[in-house]
Amino acid sequence: MKNAARGILYPLFAPKTIARAVAISGVGIHTGRPVRVRLHPAPEGTGILFRRADSGVEIPALASEVSSVELATTLGRDDVTISTVEHLLAAVHVQGLDNLLIEINGPEVPILDGSSLPWVHLLEAAGVRIQTGARRIFAVTAPVEVELGGKRIRVSPYPGLRVTYAIDFAHPAIGHQEIDLVVDRESFARELAPARTFALAEDVERLHRRGLGLGGDLDNCVVFGSGGPNNALRLADEPVRHKALDAVGDLALVGAPVWAHVEVERGGHQLHFALHEALRERPGCWTWLQGPTPPPLSPSLPAPSSPAARDPWSPAR
Ligand SMILES: [Zn+2]
Repeated sequence: MKNAARGILYPLFAPKTIARAVAISGVGIHTGRPVRVRLHPAPEGTGILFRRADSGVEIPALASEVSSVELATTLGRDDVTISTVEHLLAAVHVQGLDNLLIEINGPEVPILDGSSLPWVHLLEAAGVRIQTGARRIFAVTAPVEVELGGKRIRVSPYPGLRVTYAIDFAHPAIGHQEIDLVVDRESFARELAPARTFALAEDVERLHRRGLGLGGDLDNCVVFGSGGPNNALRLADEPVRHKALDAVGDLALVGAPVWAHVEVERGGHQLHFALHEALRERPGCWTWLQGPTPPPLSPSLPAPSSPAARDPWSPAR
């Protein structure tokens, strides 16, 4: 079944879920606690929905549910939180899934190897099931820009998702890095998904003093000390690729496929979230694209015809 989902073209406006339930276990990078995640197919209209198996509390994976963007992206409702959702959500987003139930028996998504690759493989094993009904695409129609203390994030119209990311670290082993990628299922799996979580050694010490980063180790985090990275890099510019991965995961909190060119300079979760707030405040800078009901799976039935099918940039009315 490996790679079964690759190379298949799905109808753009058809909603999708996974074909079968899958599960994975690991530890949270900050709590160090073991946790199990089970992904279930979900009916149309569910969206991407987290459910804490230990309390039954459900939290949609939407920007409106974000309770913290310090260190990782955390969703919260009342006293119940689910943190470090971004690497999982990035993989779900590029897979084009619209409906998914993510059952988790603890407060933090497992870090696994620190990248999105285990999630990509898990979702490939789960397969894709096309559902009836329609889905919307969130499309940026005019530039929106946010600056926060010398950091910058900007979105502009693009027929798909393109991410341009630049970082500048004083650490000589990182320095200036940038990447520009049109993100789809294949390019994400190849170029961004393998990039692991990284940190500077001095920040790790600070985290440990606060009782955080307890699940971090050489198997899930690249730590840059005075002598360079503590383990072999998978890619020479792994840090900026991981930042771009995080941006895709945070963008997924729009709750729909995103068509935009996202440009980030020296970003992080806080800046990614600031973009969500800016987009919410500027409804004139984006629209929902809606297409025809997807063609029926039976070839004996005629495919629906609609002007929107030929002009995906026409705003839905
Ligand atoms: Zn990350």
